[in-house]
Amino acid sequence: MPEKKAVIIIDMLNDFVTGSLKCERAQRIIPNLKRLIEEARRKGVPVIYANDSHLEEDFEVVRRWGKHALKGTPGAQVIPELKPAKKDYIVEKRTYSAFFETGLDLLLRSLGVDTVILGGLHTHICVRHTAADAFFRGYKIIVAKDGVEAFTEKDHEEGLRYLEFVYGAEIKTVDEIIKEL
Ligand code: ZN
Repeated sequence: MPEKKAVIIIDMLNDFVTGSLKCERAQRIIPNLKRLIEEARRKGVPVIYANDSHLEEDFEVVRRWGKHALKGTPGAQVIPELKPAKKDYIVEKRTYSAFFETGLDLLLRSLGVDTVILGGLHTHICVRHTAADAFFRGYKIIVAKDGVEAFTEKDHEEGLRYLEFVYGAEIKTVDEIIKEL
């Protein structure tokens, strides 16, 4: 049976790319994600944005990262280069995993999705926790290795290895993923 895929773009928000939690290395994945998103839309593969949308009281804000991607602020908006289209889906999350108390699982099941393609930030944090929750729920996982990034090369490379080793994620380039969409 052919896989039913969805593309999930994690935290490609102003605060993570150019704002309070700026990651220089995020720049290099923008054109790759743009290609992936446009190709997915063209082929009718659902595109889902999983965006931090924090309250100041959130554990993650208070205990670890400080204020970032606060709900309703420009920092919590998707970067202009990857602006969501009308038909795309947006899921607001309050911590690392795109599944945690967000309704993403219900959305994926409603769409009949069995395979998630993950892109965005960061390889070893939100991508990893989203992959964990996807794995627990039985989804197959594909990670775009040139469509995810982290603060350092080491975090990125180790993050990819972890995803492959622990969750059986297929690690592919955006071009390879596009060919199989
Ligand atoms: Zn956050």
